[in-house]
Amino acid sequence: MSALLDQFGRTIEYLRISVTDRCNFRCRYCMPVEGLPWLPKSDILSYEEIREVVTQLAPMGLRRIRITGGEPTIRPQIETLVRFIRGVPEVEDIALSTNGVKLPQLASVLADAGLDRVNISADSLQPDRIVAIARRDLGFEPVTAAKAAQAAGLGPIKLNVVVMRGVNDDEVVDFARLTLDHPWHVRFIELMPVGSLEPMTDEMVVPSEEVLSRIQDALGTLSPGGGPARGNGPAEYYQLGGAAGSIGVITPMTHTYCGSCNRVRLTADGRLRTCLFGDHEVDLRAPLRAGEPLAPFVRQALAEKPEAHALLSHRVGGLRALSQVGG
Ligand code: SAM
Repeated sequence: MSALLDQFGRTIEYLRISVTDRCNFRCRYCMPVEGLPWLPKSDILSYEEIREVVTQLAPMGLRRIRITGGEPTIRPQIETLVRFIRGVPEVEDIALSTNGVKLPQLASVLADAGLDRVNISADSLQPDRIVAIARRDLGFEPVTAAKAAQAAGLGPIKLNVVVMRGVNDDEVVDFARLTLDHPWHVRFIELMPVGSLEPMTDEMVVPSEEVLSRIQDALGTLSPGGGPARGNGPAEYYQLGGAAGSIGVITPMTHTYCGSCNRVRLTADGRLRTCLFGDHEVDLRAPLRAGEPLAPFVRQALAEKPEAHALLSHRVGGLRALSQVGG
């Protein structure tokens, strides 16, 4: 069995699979309120085709999968895909990124199908503000969603908060407080210059140092560590004294971590993207539908995986939405 290595010697064992470019939210930092030009259904990989990609990549070293989108839970019978991937013996970890709206009804169905864990995106704990950011009133309650996931055994549970100055930065302490009583990992993400950010500006990015110092001022010392045992990402973790969970920061705007990047992405229409930012991608759908082996195309993509992205040179609002590329 060979490892999937890129041209800089990074081992690639983590694939993020976007199953749809559509979403039931219209988060103001991600998607315009009228939506985007959606991919035609015939362009989108079927669950059988995604299973085939995973089956071919697994013997090459793929071990961990994240199902994402768009919003993956709005694609019908998403549990079927979870079951398919669970059937690939080399895959050790299957996670799902979701806005959490459907978790109360779906958490146990997904767990039964073989899902290991979820990340829930939650930018506010205040009902009115959730609607103002997501621009859809779907009754989303982050704490209810996280409890449903926990009850179904989909842990370690991570709550991802995109911090925006003047929008929700006054809630970082409220989010941090959740970790005192719940074994959840609340991660604060710096706003990135992707997608549809009007009328957002660079000043809305809140550096993670500022987030951490606000939490310390309000709730006491944060000690390094306490993060989840299972995870693939670039978060740095801290813990409040006696807390059940932890606080993480993800800092794409103030630090880069490309040197330890272990991931590639499969877009909903079957392109293998080796960097979230920029246009490094190779089409797998055509060879897949032609019945050709995928390995040469995967190796070509990895040979072209950039050493580092150019995100920090972009201004807010410049790049494609994460919902389009499988954030
Ligand atoms: N719908 C799923 C969800 O809500 O987790 C998966 C896709 S969503 C695009 C993935 C994550 O990207 C969410 O946590 C979202 O908040 C984040 N995201 C989208 N646009 C962003 C931006 N401009 N800056 C930082 N994070 C962003």
